[in-house]
Amino acid sequence: MSLSQVRHWVFDMDGTLTVAVHDFPAIKRALGIPQNDDILTHLAALPADEGAAKHAWLLEHERALAVASKPATGAVELVRELAGRGYRLGILTRNARELAHVTLEAIGVADCFDVDDVLGRDEAPPKPDPGGLLKLAEVWNVAPSQMVMVGDYQFDLACGKAAGARAVLVNLPENPWPELTDWHADDCVALLNILNASA
Ligand SMILES: [Mg+2]
Repeated sequence: MSLSQVRHWVFDMDGTLTVAVHDFPAIKRALGIPQNDDILTHLAALPADEGAAKHAWLLEHERALAVASKPATGAVELVRELAGRGYRLGILTRNARELAHVTLEAIGVADCFDVDDVLGRDEAPPKPDPGGLLKLAEVWNVAPSQMVMVGDYQFDLACGKAAGARAVLVNLPENPWPELTDWHADDCVALLNILNASA
């Protein structure tokens, strides 16, 4: 299958469509979370009051980042080209859905995504679990093998593979995970070039 035959595209958001700005070590320091712990897992295990207060802090911190989001190189052009072709587009992110919308607005592509096709951390299990992709496959009534998952990290690729979809790595010059990757592009400009060059 060539890339242009794939009509159902799911994107990771942070670091894929946007320039990564989350400073996870700083967030962990501010919330008193050990550097080796996972933020959401740690918060889920706290007493309810403390967990809720820290969740609220995290959401406010992330909202400020979302409003100031900048698009990754070529991301807007790629998304607009795909939407213009009438392809179905989704987002699978560990960010909160509401903040994903703020982010998509900030970079200027919110109109290319159906609200229901943006899955945040409350709508899908965290990647590499394929649950979110499989959910979109069901809603879109398409076989996972007809979908691509585009991301900048191992978990995005592994999620795609676990779902039976194709996986695309962007925004990393070297590919540390070739066994998980069907297409690799330096950035979304290069990915758009691959798309346009494929029949
Ligand atoms: Mg990412």
